[in-house]
Amino acid sequence: SSNIIAIVGRPNVGKSTLFNRLVGSRKAIMDNESGVTRDRSYGHGEWCGKFFTVIDTGGYVHGSSDIFEEEINKQVELAITEADVILFMVDVDAGLTGLDEEFAAVLRRSKKPIYIVANKADTHARAHQTGEFYALGVGEEIYPISSQNGSGTGDLLDEVVKHF
Ligand code: GDP
Ligand code: MG
Repeated sequence: SSNIIAIVGRPNVGKSTLFNRLVGSRKAIMDNESGVTRDRSYGHGEWCGKFFTVIDTGGYVHGSSDIFEEEINKQVELAITEADVILFMVDVDAGLTGLDEEFAAVLRRSKKPIYIVANKADTHARAHQTGEFYALGVGEEIYPISSQNGSGTGDLLDEVVKHF
């Protein structure tokens, strides 16, 4: 199997920060053609002897938090068709937003395993403030992580690589 993990979610939740952490120092393969907006990055990572590819989606709206239904559909469609496991990232600092709900509505089409990753849980207190995201109704469990300091990412990867 190809062992592909896709990271999806609205702008600024921390997708690229997690991507960079998961692919470590390995060089990401970017598919940016000149003059074309980069819409995804691929990188390679390893956890406990399992090798995988990570897709960072959502470069559609550079430097902007404006994102539209078409872009959400495009991002999620990519994840659903290409990935074996989907990480749906939300932001515990910002809390649950309407855009998160729009992503969840599209993600419900997927039969692939989905994990809700509650990012920016930089402290233990923050890691316990994730209950509101169960309302999204996708995924089975919520994994609080900090892409910035790495906390929680090991527990998440332990679960994810079980699919590989
Ligand atoms: P993306 O748009 O989803 O790819 O988000 P980015 O990875 O570009 O991150 C958006 C902002 O959130 C940046 O300023 C990051 O430094 C910040 N950020 C990402 N992960 C964390 C985290 O775990 N904790 C905190 N406090 N900030 C984070
Ligand atoms: Mg990004």
